[in-house]
Amino acid sequence: MPLHEYIKKRDLKVSPEPLHKKKSKSPKKTSPLMFVVQEHHASHLHYDFRLELNGVLKSWAIPKGISLDPKVKRLAVEVEDHPLSYGHFEGVIPQGQYGAGTVRIWDTGTWEPVGSARQGLKKGHLEFKLRGKKLFGSWVLIKTQRAAGKKSQWLLIKKSDEYARPHEISKSA
Ligand code: MN
Repeated sequence: MPLHEYIKKRDLKVSPEPLHKKKSKSPKKTSPLMFVVQEHHASHLHYDFRLELNGVLKSWAIPKGISLDPKVKRLAVEVEDHPLSYGHFEGVIPQGQYGAGTVRIWDTGTWEPVGSARQGLKKGHLEFKLRGKKLFGSWVLIKTQRAAGKKSQWLLIKKSDEYARPHEISKSA
């Protein structure tokens, strides 16, 4: 039940957030995988980074947003899987609801794992390429030893390539 935690945290009768039941997909699905970054003005502004995998969106909350500087490691706290339909969601989560505040799509496009995504997630070292409107090129998510409560902490890092911007402080605004 990959979306159990997503459903448990929300009152989807009150919140406009989507829930589309996972459709049974051909395991041979060849269409590109989606990614999305959502700017989420909740109690603290953060950026939700989501990668489509196995019929859900694997999700991380990035408090400081995404940096194009390969020297900058941005904390990315792993959060619950989200339904694929969440990748198109923009709107206002009502006060009193989980994650109350405005959600806007900051960037979206397709992604491609380098090697096996499943193994990358398991071993805590996931390399991938993004093709978005703002974000391109090679990236890596590296799991750290620390955990925030029971949530795993990762670092999102831009790899050096022609899309890196070594001296930029932040691309989060
Ligand atoms: Mn969020």
